[in-house]
Amino acid sequence: MSAQTPSVSIPADEPARLRAITAELGIPGFVDVHTHFMPVNVLDKVWRYFDAAAENGKRPWPIAYRFDEGERVHRLRELGVLRFTSMLYPHRPGMADWLNDWAADFAARTPDCAHTATFYPEPEAGAGTQRALASGAAVFKAHVQVGGYDPADRLLDPVWAQIQEAGAPVVIHCGSGPVAGSHTGMEPVAEVLARFPRLRLVIAHSGLPEYAEFLQLAEDCERVCLDTCMTFTDFTEATAPFPEELLPRFAQLALDGRVVLGSDYPNIPYPYVHQIEAIRGLGLGAEVEAAILHDNGAVLLGGGC
Ligand SMILES: [Zn+2]
Repeated sequence: MSAQTPSVSIPADEPARLRAITAELGIPGFVDVHTHFMPVNVLDKVWRYFDAAAENGKRPWPIAYRFDEGERVHRLRELGVLRFTSMLYPHRPGMADWLNDWAADFAARTPDCAHTATFYPEPEAGAGTQRALASGAAVFKAHVQVGGYDPADRLLDPVWAQIQEAGAPVVIHCGSGPVAGSHTGMEPVAEVLARFPRLRLVIAHSGLPEYAEFLQLAEDCERVCLDTCMTFTDFTEATAPFPEELLPRFAQLALDGRVVLGSDYPNIPYPYVHQIEAIRGLGLGAEVEAAILHDNGAVLLGGGC
């Protein structure tokens, strides 16, 4: 696959279609809590992983927005996204501080991107989180499957304690899909919440494929949210469909401020507009859609949009 040629065909009228949706809903634009910006060598590695999906016997996963960083930021703005994040995550010790430095710099030169940070269970984790918070980190990311760690690892206690105290949201990929890990699933997360009940966890991908368990967790814990990242798209529905009977509870949670738009941009195998149209296709009504696509994320990320 050529590095310059996305194999997903992005409709030329994509920005116009998205702007028609925001106009119809009466929202100023979208707030997307789950987008990936990373140091170029890390992102290249991520892209190589997805490129190899087909040869590894998995579903092909073409990257729709395979552009350089400036172009990716420009396009996201063109799509009407007012505020977004740079989700980063380490897969080994000794990496989090370096990623955090990069994210701080990216946020400083990208004012519409929230200042994000991450962590890994290692003896220095607490000090790293303290440094990240002191430098202004407002959103954290944890990837339980890629990191291969137990979120309830005691080495993370000082991390969770400080993040809870700061009230910063943590987007956590903890469901067992699309790839399961030794510590994915609801139980490790429930254990973390038992110790730190005021944590503002944002369950990535709505907990795919454990939708019912994570929806219940969000209902039980008043600060837990779900993000819509890849949920409801044709790509995800083909293998892990969201149970229709959960939709009324999902809609109620959205009205309570606790479902937020996430997309996984730019690493998605379809155009961005498909994620938005998939959410609208649920038929939950304009009030719920405005809450998910803009209002709830704007509260969560702050930044006045
Ligand atoms: Zn992601």
